[in-house]
Amino acid sequence: MSQKRIAIFGSTGSIGTQALEVIAANPNIFSVEVLTAQTNDELLVQQAFKFKPNVVVIGDERKYTKVKDALAGTDVKVFAGEKALEEVAALDIYDLMLAAIVGYAGLKPTLEALKNGKPVALANKETLVVAGDIVMQTAMEKRVPVIPVDSEHSAIFQCLVGETRNRIEKVILTASGGPFRGKKPNFLVNVKRDHALQHPNWTMGAKITIDSATLMNKGLEMIEAKWLFNLKPEQIQVVIHPQSIIHSMVQFEDGSIKAQMGVPDMKLPIQYAMAFPQRLPNDFPRLNFRNMNTLSFEEPDVKTFRNLGLAIEALGKGGNMPCILNAANEIAVYAFLRNRIGFLDMTEVVEQTMTKISHIEAPTLEEYFESDGEARSFAASLIQM
Ligand code: NAD
Ligand code: MG
Repeated sequence: MSQKRIAIFGSTGSIGTQALEVIAANPNIFSVEVLTAQTNDELLVQQAFKFKPNVVVIGDERKYTKVKDALAGTDVKVFAGEKALEEVAALDIYDLMLAAIVGYAGLKPTLEALKNGKPVALANKETLVVAGDIVMQTAMEKRVPVIPVDSEHSAIFQCLVGETRNRIEKVILTASGGPFRGKKPNFLVNVKRDHALQHPNWTMGAKITIDSATLMNKGLEMIEAKWLFNLKPEQIQVVIHPQSIIHSMVQFEDGSIKAQMGVPDMKLPIQYAMAFPQRLPNDFPRLNFRNMNTLSFEEPDVKTFRNLGLAIEALGKGGNMPCILNAANEIAVYAFLRNRIGFLDMTEVVEQTMTKISHIEAPTLEEYFESDGEARSFAASLIQM
């Protein structure tokens, strides 16, 4: 069997580095063709020496010479800049893209891969939040799969294997509740970035960790689920499950519910997506039911964690509203990470931006780009005040 050639977009991040661990453990099954990073040139170069890709892309063009010089004497081709990400995504040198860039920046390269008939293992949920209809339409036209990496969506995807003819009644997305579960606004108002960056169950990149603390992450995941599994908003339910053992569930028309479980470890959904439809043996920690005394569930507190409510509103309105929500949220999260605004201010920024930017029911791709730009400028103007 020939190796599956993987292109990792965002190889220096939390998902990217874990994907490389999976690849290193399965050298006969996977090879690395493309690695990309935004700013961490040192790690990118180190990864290139170890995995010998065909191409690397450094997003930050000021670092091009540094990367090029470091890789002189190897066969690795070096490119730089945002446009290069799209150009490399369009090359016919790989079999599967792992879309592991964070945020809106992941949209264009992912779309380019799909346009060129490349299957995508999708970690970058923002891609579907921003332009889910266009992304899924492109995948359908090109007959290529979008395989979820996000643990909840991987769980649902795994529950759906063998169920192609059976209608989904609803999906139940589990959420840990993050580090501030049970807290009220009078506590949240004083939360600082370092505290919000401590997630109880998962170690992830900074942006998704903050999104998990505000529950925006679960809202983005509801929108992601809508597009991946072709669901109506009312078919998507969120339940808080603090132990993160059940990664999500599907309820079918006969009332039967399937769940996918495991210890919280992103390497499993990453490996599943990269090897799909095969399951690969591994030495990841196993779940032991005898050591587990409680699996608990509760309703999410949308009154306190208003970001989830805003995402549900955007999901219901559809069109460019999720794109607006996402853009404002990215601006708000990065401002919070730079200690420019408080924890609860993030919600204000998102809410006001959603009120301000005009709703378009069925946007073109260009209109999505414009909405993103307008929402970002408006959100940023709120923060500078
Ligand atoms: P991260 O911040 O750790 O890594 C992000 C990667 O994207 C890095 O390689 C970085 O160089 C690159 N990048 C950042 N900005 C970029 C830009 N403007 N242009 C090009 N590349 C850029 O993030 P992460 O936690 O690995 O998350 C990646 C994606 O996967 C996110 O969309 C996140 O929501 C999703 N996801 C992550 C996890 C997790 O456990 N980390 C779980 C589920 C889903
Ligand atoms: Mg998730």
